[in-house]
Amino acid sequence: MIKESQLVDDNAVFRKVVPAGDYFMEVVKKGQTVRILDLEGNQAADTLFYNANDPSERYSAVDTIREQGNVYLSAGTKLLSNENNVMLEIVADTCGRHDTLGGACATESNTVRYALGKKCMHACRDSWMLAIAENEQYGMGKRDITHNINFFMNVPVTQKGGLSFADGISAPGKYVELKAHMDVIVLLSNCPQLNNPCNAYHPTPVEVLIWN
Ligand SMILES: [Zn+2]
Repeated sequence: MIKESQLVDDNAVFRKVVPAGDYFMEVVKKGQTVRILDLEGNQAADTLFYNANDPSERYSAVDTIREQGNVYLSAGTKLLSNENNVMLEIVADTCGRHDTLGGACATESNTVRYALGKKCMHACRDSWMLAIAENEQYGMGKRDITHNINFFMNVPVTQKGGLSFADGISAPGKYVELKAHMDVIVLLSNCPQLNNPCNAYHPTPVEVLIWN
């Protein structure tokens, strides 16, 4: 569902451009709103959320899908944790829908989806592993890397229930905005994928903004 934001850019208390292939890992406090802005269009922002006070509580795709009765995420979606608590709510969305079925790219999946020779290419899972290694204060390890959301990514479900990776439906300047219902760690990998039509084979930067 398309829903525009009422927030004014100049009032943001934080903003940072995240280049393709880089990660973003910061705490968004309860009551704050975070926007992920697709600067050049059809980029995929592979994102995980954790309870900042207990990272063993984290975003759960299955609980979110079951409770809303829909596989696509958009304005109005409440992102639930593995303990069935609301972590964040999508309060604005100019893209229209976001994927939480396709999973993130990894060097292993690159070999299965594309070619054995793609194993050495940088993938989102590498960025997440680097993020948790460089941010020891959160006390997270490999086991905390779980199922994610692919903001701006287009993974339509076919009539037979299959997943297809399709050309993106986002565009330059489109964004998704989430209000935090608890203190959350946002762990975002701005996807470096070069083999996927979702980003037109051309990964580009995203910007993260936060409002109080
Ligand atoms: Zn990726």
